[in-house]
Amino acid sequence: MVHKIAIVGFGKIARDQHVPSIAENPDFTFAAAVSRNARAEGVDNFATLEELFESRPDIGVVALCTPPQVRFEYAKKAIAAGKHVLLEKPPGATLSEVATLEAMAREKSVVLFATWHSRYAPAVEPARDWLKGKAITGVEIVWREDVKHWHPGQKWIWEAGGLGVFDPGINGLSILTAILPEPIHVTRANLEFPANCQTPIAAQVDFVTASGVAVKGDFDWRQEGPQSWDITVVTDAGTLAISEGGAKMAIDGERVVDGEDREYPGIYAHFAQLLASGESDVDVTPLRQVADAMMLGRRETVAAFHE
Ligand code: NAP
Repeated sequence: MVHKIAIVGFGKIARDQHVPSIAENPDFTFAAAVSRNARAEGVDNFATLEELFESRPDIGVVALCTPPQVRFEYAKKAIAAGKHVLLEKPPGATLSEVATLEAMAREKSVVLFATWHSRYAPAVEPARDWLKGKAITGVEIVWREDVKHWHPGQKWIWEAGGLGVFDPGINGLSILTAILPEPIHVTRANLEFPANCQTPIAAQVDFVTASGVAVKGDFDWRQEGPQSWDITVVTDAGTLAISEGGAKMAIDGERVVDGEDREYPGIYAHFAQLLASGESDVDVTPLRQVADAMMLGRRETVAAFHE
């Protein structure tokens, strides 16, 4: 069965990744867009979900690509209308709203898919497999990028619920929590908030694994020059290094994975499987780590941010 899908929130990620990934997947047809300002070419465009549902009852699936702060209201309406729902990351602005959506989806027997695109990066499966059964002695995650380059003009990232540096940082945490054989939790965090912003521009976060191994987190949005999206795991059998956000992996310095970016095609392949089986996939673990860092974090005010 080919699923007709509407994209809701037609911004950067919708154009860059969702449209081409839907186009190359025979299980989906891009059928409509819902956006207050933008227009998608070659499909029906609507300003609201209500107009979409009224005019195109044949569309049974929606991909919500809005900022997290407004995603719950769109998701709630879509589930209530009996639509299957894909959530961009992070799945919501709070953990509880995602739990509510899960309960609503169960009640309506629709599929809810909370996506974590970085988990489809080429190094993730091999890293998880390699770490199985090894004794881990140290972990470091360094996620440093230039916000001015990657998020020009995006005001929502600086508003409450926008996650700040954890908007990219949560991608690293989605990889880390997928590859480690045991759970982690936050023990300490230092959060650097620009004087004019409601979300942090940098964070240093200490986690610990269930068996007591320290995990150091360094998240920074002020990195100019080369960007760092790295995870290092030291074990009794060598050191695993993931770099470039999961595109590359090395063991003791020797490259073992160097794959192309197929993250969003991976999302849609998995979504097709979920729709076929009728199962939902909602893992809030990365969002919980960020929520805990915000809850436990010591707040520091740093220089105001101006683009
Ligand atoms: P964006 O470029 O700012 O686009 C968001 C879209 O959502 C806007 O085009 C806007 O369209 C719509 N929207 C609806 N209600 C809104 C509101 N109250 N405030 C602002 N926009 C609203 O953002 P994006 O980069 O695509 O990110 C969207 C989501 O994808 C985020 O959760 C982000 O973490 C995730 N993501 C982004 C990237 C990336 O590289 N940018 C990568 C992976 C995941 P209208 O104004 O036309 O309604």
